[in-house]
Amino acid sequence: MRIIDSHAHLRRGAVGFDKIVESGAFDEIWLMDLSGISLSGVDFASREEVLEVAKRHKGRVRAFGFVDLDGIPEQVDKLRDMGFCGLKPYKPLRHYGSEKYFPIYERAQILKMPVMFHTGLVAKGPAWESGARHSFGSANMRPDSLASVAEAFPELRVMQGHMGWPYMEETAQNLYYYKNITCDVSGFRRCISNLPEFMDRKCNDGVPGRFFIDKIRFATDQFYGAEADNAAALKLLEFWKLYFEFIASVYYKCGQAAETENFFYCNARSIADWSDSKY
Ligand SMILES: [Zn+2]
Repeated sequence: MRIIDSHAHLRRGAVGFDKIVESGAFDEIWLMDLSGISLSGVDFASREEVLEVAKRHKGRVRAFGFVDLDGIPEQVDKLRDMGFCGLKPYKPLRHYGSEKYFPIYERAQILKMPVMFHTGLVAKGPAWESGARHSFGSANMRPDSLASVAEAFPELRVMQGHMGWPYMEETAQNLYYYKNITCDVSGFRRCISNLPEFMDRKCNDGVPGRFFIDKIRFATDQFYGAEADNAAALKLLEFWKLYFEFIASVYYKCGQAAETENFFYCNARSIADWSDSKY
């Protein structure tokens, strides 16, 4: 089975990452640059390190560059020129759907750079200090705030990181209604018992015959580069494979062969294909 880990990160001075890539466990790993971020206890790779790894493993590793939504739109062109194929904002000062950010989304749509938006419950960073240039908590990163982005930029691939817990109904509306919003399951196990019913729900997004499973991607959200995280990524892969083999495929539509392939590979592949196509 082909597999894309469509949302992950890299630590500074990563150990064992090359081995994971070369093992072939994943066909591709998509690294989200978080060099602009501090999280307690994690030292993220610089953007140069992320790009270097993506170049070294061309075709196996894709790099999404950290974009400051409160900064200038020209960042987008610069990140594309550097070699990033997508964008990763985080903890913006306004909510994602603010029209102030539209010039950045406009450049992303023109340059065909998918945007991976964290949604829902978020890791704690350092406490507030005067002059802090980011927001706190998940209020600015609710799934609902992506609806305006998807409507205003109908070709932009709006990637919702995670299922948006605890705002699952907002995620459901996004998947139901907007053809260009997709999400990934990383970090999502809190209500896994409801997940197959969720994946089986029907869309009404203008693309005939689509179900939520056609818009939900496999991802680990691991911080690759420490032995424990590398191992956890492989365990998560095994977990989701077994979940599909013994639960989803037995009891639900989302577990049929084509749907399973969509989850592990095709849903991510179609975003990559859009990004790779000419503009
Ligand atoms: Zn992440």
